Amino acid sequence: MAQADISLRGSKLVLASHNPGKLREIAELLEPYGVDVISAGDLGLPEPVEDGKTFAANAEIKALAAAKESGFPALSDDSGLAVVALNGDPGIYSARWAGPDKDFSLAMAKVEEELQTAAQNGNDNRAAYFICALCLAWPDGRTDVFEGRVDGTIVHPARGLSGFGYDPVFQAEGESITFGEMAPSRKHSMSHRARAFALLVKEKFQA
Ligand code: IMP
Repeated sequence: MAQADISLRGSKLVLASHNPGKLREIAELLEPYGVDVISAGDLGLPEPVEDGKTFAANAEIKALAAAKESGFPALSDDSGLAVVALNGDPGIYSARWAGPDKDFSLAMAKVEEELQTAAQNGNDNRAAYFICALCLAWPDGRTDVFEGRVDGTIVHPARGLSGFGYDPVFQAEGESITFGEMAPSRKHSMSHRARAFALLVKEKFQA
């Protein structure tokens, strides 16, 4: 088993997210490292207001709040889908495009509608990418941010029931299936989250 960084070993790590899809994926990515994880929801921690202007800033807000409130190191994920023809939207507002009911069929339909409007206006570029900023924060206020990105295209109609969020409309470069059709292990071999996680592992975990 790989070993956690000396300062993470023997400590709980709080996963500073209330999003079940992200929690599942981060727990899967952390599994080989034997870290004792607990979610912010299980600790009853409130969700801070994410008013940062970048993925990294929002990741820092979430991880710092959880670390300070819990007294344990905390790991957060701020991520989203950026569509090139939509000038990077929904971007940091990816969760908000799904509305208060977190309805991602609605969010995916909105992306498609806006892409069709762009195409009618002469821009038929369907390129998009997912970005993930992971922040590891400590109760004393130290933070480290790691970013990963995966490029691909938006497909229509949506395909697959795996994953979460916008996965059924995202096809990574060189792939013929969407993230929604992929086994979790395959998504973890190329996703934005896995790429950010690989950078975190390189710096914070000993082989
Ligand atoms: P936030 O980081 O909590 O603001 O939410 C990010 C949103 O981006 C999620 O609710 C998803 O809709 C979307 N997102 C982030 N990562 C993924 C992914 O791996 N697959 C699909 N959607 C994602």
